[in-house]
Amino acid sequence: MTRDLTRFWIGGEWVEPLSGERLDVEDPATEEIVARIALGSAEDVDRAVAAAHAAQPRWAATPVAERVAYLERLLEVTKRRLPELAEAITTEMGAPHDVALGEQAATAVGHLEGFLTALEGFPWEERLPNGETLWREPVGVAGLITPWNWPINQITLKVLPALATGCACVLKPSELTPLSAMLYAEFLAEAGLPGGVVNLVNGTGPVVGASLSGHAGIDMMSFTGSTRAGAEVSRAAAPSVKRVTLELGGKGPNLVFADCGDDLEARVRASVAEGMLNSGQSCDQPARMMVEAAVYEEVCRIAAAAAEETVVGDPRQPGDRIGPLAHGAQWDRVQGFIAGAQAEGARLIAGGAGRPEGLARGHYARPTILADVTPEMTIWREEVFGPVLTITPFEGEAEGLRLANDTEYGLAAYLQTGDRERALRVARSLRAGMVRVNGEAMGAGSPFGGMKRSGNGREGGRLGLEDFTEAKTLTLPPDWR
Ligand code: NAD
Repeated sequence: MTRDLTRFWIGGEWVEPLSGERLDVEDPATEEIVARIALGSAEDVDRAVAAAHAAQPRWAATPVAERVAYLERLLEVTKRRLPELAEAITTEMGAPHDVALGEQAATAVGHLEGFLTALEGFPWEERLPNGETLWREPVGVAGLITPWNWPINQITLKVLPALATGCACVLKPSELTPLSAMLYAEFLAEAGLPGGVVNLVNGTGPVVGASLSGHAGIDMMSFTGSTRAGAEVSRAAAPSVKRVTLELGGKGPNLVFADCGDDLEARVRASVAEGMLNSGQSCDQPARMMVEAAVYEEVCRIAAAAAEETVVGDPRQPGDRIGPLAHGAQWDRVQGFIAGAQAEGARLIAGGAGRPEGLARGHYARPTILADVTPEMTIWREEVFGPVLTITPFEGEAEGLRLANDTEYGLAAYLQTGDRERALRVARSLRAGMVRVNGEAMGAGSPFGGMKRSGNGREGGRLGLEDFTEAKTLTLPPDWR
């Protein structure tokens, strides 16, 4: 049954769109149309921005303790309705049940807890070493644009710090994954959030995204998506000199050192699992495995076996597996990268182009490993965003580092080593916003974000709050301080 989800959440109610454009939402596992949404116009954006402005002064003036109380109620609602959120994510982008619930929807709880902790010690007012005062104030009305790959993760990394710091906002989720976003608006309403503090307009990037980015009534844009679209947001925002924070693409290096010893197999298998998670559609995917020459062939064998053993199938079944890619265009893109890498000389050691056996419907791709990949190949530089990993040999730490940093991106980097000193030394030299050693997972509240063309700003925890604040310096006469 196709659900009619053509309304927008503006000013605390579901309103009819001004635009007449519509878009069907497909379940990528069944290729069936499950919902229809409206695609907003510039006029819809104007209306949402006006609602945010109407709500902004009162929300900014709300005592922090009251905002915390809202967030605590939202935490209760989110925990109780988490399975619904997971189901929406599975339906709109194909994340398997366990990933949708335990990783994707779970971020709505983890990030919220991380922000609540960060709020406890947040420096709203500081005495500077020179005796003057620094206040932190809400930046104003924020425009939020999010992608489809970890939909609720990205929405909560933006909506929650806006709420926490006293900013009203207008959210434009990915038009490909509107179900979880619209459900989250219901959670906010159920938590008693005043109307107009969070507004949601569905639509395309070039229309709703561009209108928001260029809007004179928006004080800050927080964008997550491709580097291409991030640059367009910056351009559209430039004339109004608003703040723009960007979380963009990645091409994560994963340095595997021969000193892993007996842990080598476990490290490589865990790296492959991390790379295939969410069908590889993660900006922080460890996409480029670089392996010290002494263990290169052994690692290729282990990685190929791990990829071949990865279960691909129906995302509604529980258990360890990957689901389909989120949409058909992404499937085509991934096939193109696999064929292109082979044509450029990469050695296919697991998977390959085409559909996995026995899966006639759905945008399923085969877990694929390409070995002997070199920096001259397209796949070395471009983000595939699929269950595809590359392997490249290196001799010694210096070459490994050089190869790892040989990318325009600088989001997440990974290290597998048995030597703590090496881990610290190499981590210092990696140009990346996050370095994860031996498969350790980052906790909620740690800043997420990148260097170089992976963006600017950090999301989550204290730094994530700071991005939504303005600093105001107060210089009082000395006897008033
Ligand atoms: P995308 O850039 O096509 O779309 C992302 C969002 O931007 C969507 O809501 C889209 O409608 C909007 N958009 C597109 N063009 C726009 C424009 N001109 N102006 C304003 N908004 C516009 O990216 P995608 O395909 O949805 O997502 C995948 C990309 O997101 C990948 O590159 C991935 O690495 C990146 N990503 C980054 C992070 C991070 O935190 N660094 C997290 C997840 C995804």
